[in-house]
Amino acid sequence: MTDSVTAPKAEKLAAIKGMNDILPPDSARWEALEDNVRSLMRAYAYENIRTPIVEHTALFVRGLGEVTDIVEKEMYSFEDKLNGDRLTLRPENTAGVVRAAIEHSLLYNGGKRLYYMGPMFRHERPQRGRYRQFHQIGAEALGFGGPEVDAEVILMAHALCQRLGIADVELQINSLGQPGERNAHRAALIAHFEAHHDALDAEAKRRLHLNPLRLLDSKNPAMQDVITAAPKLMDFLGEASKAHLAAVRGMLDANGVAHTVNHRLVRGMDYYNLTVFEFVTMQLGAQGTICAGGRYDYLMEQVGGKPAPAVGWAMGMERVLELIAQQALPVAALDAYALVTDVAFFPRVHQCLEALRQRGVRVQMQAAVDGALPGMKAQFKRADNSGARFALIFGADEMADGVVTIKALRDPQAAQLRQPLADVAQWAQSLQSAA
Ligand code: ATP
Ligand code: MG
Repeated sequence: MTDSVTAPKAEKLAAIKGMNDILPPDSARWEALEDNVRSLMRAYAYENIRTPIVEHTALFVRGLGEVTDIVEKEMYSFEDKLNGDRLTLRPENTAGVVRAAIEHSLLYNGGKRLYYMGPMFRHERPQRGRYRQFHQIGAEALGFGGPEVDAEVILMAHALCQRLGIADVELQINSLGQPGERNAHRAALIAHFEAHHDALDAEAKRRLHLNPLRLLDSKNPAMQDVITAAPKLMDFLGEASKAHLAAVRGMLDANGVAHTVNHRLVRGMDYYNLTVFEFVTMQLGAQGTICAGGRYDYLMEQVGGKPAPAVGWAMGMERVLELIAQQALPVAALDAYALVTDVAFFPRVHQCLEALRQRGVRVQMQAAVDGALPGMKAQFKRADNSGARFALIFGADEMADGVVTIKALRDPQAAQLRQPLADVAQWAQSLQSAA
């Protein structure tokens, strides 16, 4: 046996930087957000999909593109020690959803509307609104090519913001056109930036011939003039691409969804074409994009499936929750707290509480502390601090008479009730009908 006095204390372990514990009571706000999302997705008939958080590295390299922030520097990749596979913690979930759709032939019967919620991993510098494990809500409409589905997913993200009471958010939209149009624009972009080579920073110089579109995304203040003067992709779009954007915008207008066209909106992943969009707020400092998405008609093919058009978005849950931090998401309060004077009563206490819980009463039970039950006064204090509306008292008198005493904790006028244990369901019912 080790001597507990002299044995060295185990070293304290902390969570990984940029990866957060989500603790009560804050976790209740997460649950409320998740409840909201589920009911919204049901209304739009999007079905839940759950894919692994680890995928083959190749999926993201092929899907997102080699010259992207994520693939170049943000992925948590490692080798599976047992078989040498190159694996990556998912940095986003569109590629995984598309992989699963192909693998399980989800589109055999036409389009599929899917949603997910869950953790994503990116090795970024942790700061407000930017973490290494963060969470996204995502919607993906696979197998749909028409602008009506671009509009549908945007309306859905807009509706979610409305439900959550997020006002102050701007919808920005752009079109990235089709690959051919982008190539013509790309050549013009390279020519433009080459002519202003001295104004470019090292990162921009490196990317100039690899992925010049991403230069438009640069936040470097010294480069803003040369970026503003750059050729606009919009001027290279053909009639069909312009018509697609106009159709999406028309449907948003018809539904009163205000939006602005941002020519510099290019998005971080290579897989987008035609419509791209972001919901941006000024209230979160530099990390103002709460939701981002667009059309990705070539991703299916890119990861080895039959060609199929698609459109979707992802929303950062941490940013959304920070935005609604001030405003209370409804969190269920305790209905009742059970006070118990003797451990011998627990079998009957459990019976009674089970009956109440089956009828939707939210009840917490006093448990023994170091093998003994606290005194009545201490238990009442805990009941009071719990926020419960009622105290349920299981004492010796009550047990002898087969009743429970019910005391309203928030209403000094209310009379105490002695409710027969055989009949607690009736009290539960009166609670529900009063609510
Ligand atoms: P940013 O420009 O802020 O890096 P991004 O283009 O990399 O964003 P997306 O990949 O489009 O972001 O992800 C969609 C949403 O997920 C973002 O708008 C944001 O709300 C959220 N998000 C992305 N990265 C993080 C992160 N590291 N921490 C918290 N939320 C994030
Ligand atoms: Mg990023």
